[in-house]
Amino acid sequence: MKHLCGNCERIYDDEDPNVPIEPFEIWIEEEKRKIIVPVRVCPFCGSPEHSRAPGNQWEKRFHLVDIVKLKEGSVSVSTINLMTERDGYFFETMIFGSEELQLENYIERYRTKEEAIKRHKEIVQLLKSGRYKLKPSIYTLILQKIPEELPWHQKMILKALRYLPPKSLTGEVYRKYAELVRKEGYTPLTIRRVSSLLKELANLGLIECKLVSLGRCGRSKLISLKFEEKTKKGEIVEPNSFI
Ligand SMILES: [Zn+2]
Repeated sequence: MKHLCGNCERIYDDEDPNVPIEPFEIWIEEEKRKIIVPVRVCPFCGSPEHSRAPGNQWEKRFHLVDIVKLKEGSVSVSTINLMTERDGYFFETMIFGSEELQLENYIERYRTKEEAIKRHKEIVQLLKSGRYKLKPSIYTLILQKIPEELPWHQKMILKALRYLPPKSLTGEVYRKYAELVRKEGYTPLTIRRVSSLLKELANLGLIECKLVSLGRCGRSKLISLKFEEKTKKGEIVEPNSFI
């Protein structure tokens, strides 16, 4: 794949066998020690590919961030060099809402840095001038649909799904749910019980469950918050949020 070096911003093909590989040190926080790993480096300037190191320890790349305060809460506009080409694009702007302002992720991608900088500034201006229509996230929309009498554990399952990608496996949903419940100081229900609550949530139209075969491992379900499909598709969201 094509790679735009974060340091010298020249493009190379990272599958080219001539791209040099060098040993680099990585600090493993959990183990409190350094390890040496082989990493591809830019053939022009020797800068390592960032994604190989936890916490982007050698990261050197273009990244613009602006925090904009709106009356609803603050949002952050973040534009980066993706480094690895995605469908011909190397740069991307995302708008993130703060915790209380759950927003649909807004993404725009560009081919060049100049384009990215120009659009980043425009977006910041549009936000400041109030010409950005905030789209609530799917989770916020679902929250509005949740009947108040829905039992607490079911609410916690929905909350867990919010942190997971669409089509997560039952086990993954369970682990996240259990983690959230423990954080609140309670004991999670059994996975069997959670499985049946997932069925109830699907019957209520709040989630979607698809049965999949995992070969010898049996069967599992792929679980998503409902309507998630609509939003996760399309790499580039049409900028129709700007009015
Ligand atoms: Zn370079």
